[in-house]
Amino acid sequence: MHTPHGDIPTPVFAPVGTQATVKTLAPDELTELGATLILANTYHLYLRPGADLVARMGGLHRFMGWSGPILTDSGGFQVFSLESLRKVSDEGVKFRSHIDGSEHFFSPERSIEIQEQLGADIIMALDECPDPMNYEYNKVALGRTHRWAERCLRAHTRPDQALFGILQGGIFPDLREESARFLTALDFPGYALGGLSVGEPKEKTWEVLDFTVPLLPQDRPRYLMGVGSPEDLFAGVERGIDLFDCALPTRLARNGALFTAHGRINLRKAEFAEVAAPVEEGCTCYTCRHFSLAYLHHLYKAEEILGLRLNTIHNLHFLLEWMRRIRAALQKDTFGQLKADFLARYVPVQDEAQRRDNLEQRRGKPGHRRE
Ligand SMILES: [Zn+2]
Repeated sequence: MHTPHGDIPTPVFAPVGTQATVKTLAPDELTELGATLILANTYHLYLRPGADLVARMGGLHRFMGWSGPILTDSGGFQVFSLESLRKVSDEGVKFRSHIDGSEHFFSPERSIEIQEQLGADIIMALDECPDPMNYEYNKVALGRTHRWAERCLRAHTRPDQALFGILQGGIFPDLREESARFLTALDFPGYALGGLSVGEPKEKTWEVLDFTVPLLPQDRPRYLMGVGSPEDLFAGVERGIDLFDCALPTRLARNGALFTAHGRINLRKAEFAEVAAPVEEGCTCYTCRHFSLAYLHHLYKAEEILGLRLNTIHNLHFLLEWMRRIRAALQKDTFGQLKADFLARYVPVQDEAQRRDNLEQRRGKPGHRRE
């Protein structure tokens, strides 16, 4: 992907900088890690410090001191996550700030206006994000999402920003197909798959990709929103996804959970108190080149800020490095081998297994049964 702030080799993983900062890291550290795209959240920046203030400060790139490509979401996903705090109509969505309870309104036009003030390279259409398993609601919401997509296109004025459309339709093939047909006719420069990884069984996520991605144009980036655990990157790339974002690696890092080739470990465990080895032998990140597990365990126990930073560096390096390997394997046509090698060693940890168990139960409920 080419943007006014640089090229983005794909497939790409974008670290999340919710409040115009990838938590604990400075932009030069992100560059050193090889990050080529950062995501910032419109909802949060609109509420604080305000999109007009960011614009007066020269736009998001200058404000946060990051000269590379930035993507902003539409604000819709956060608003729809507020549940009781919102009211949806064809006009837009009314919601209350989680900070001070004040009332706000996002229409498609307002979302685009705010994103133009923020000034990211890639911006997103406002969409409605319903429960992916509820057919009737998805049918209604889909019509609204499509009308909103047209209004976003009409409202969009900055030619230096690429406005991506977002497909919805839950887990339902007919709705996803309708969404793909409608949005591709509008000729967006890129397409996101919205409404996934929001509680549906993981198998369903991949099923949706299996029948939806082939309906999208080959020459436009495909963006799987909110997905980014290591095994998911392989599953997404295999199905033609070019762009991922996820707060998981940075959030886990701050909780002491670190990725390794064998799965996740947690620094809180006493077993690491006297381990002189790094998190992962052979890892070339700053953290692994300089520090032992024993030291990271100590920083975690002592709640030292440096620990959060070192953990974040390692986790982002892990994902960005595997994405580099994936890109290289795609070039050499050895992706299948790389994926097999990765999955042969990588074991998802207990809470991941727990989540799958919950989803198994959920699948057994009426209305959620597989065909
Ligand atoms: Zn490392």
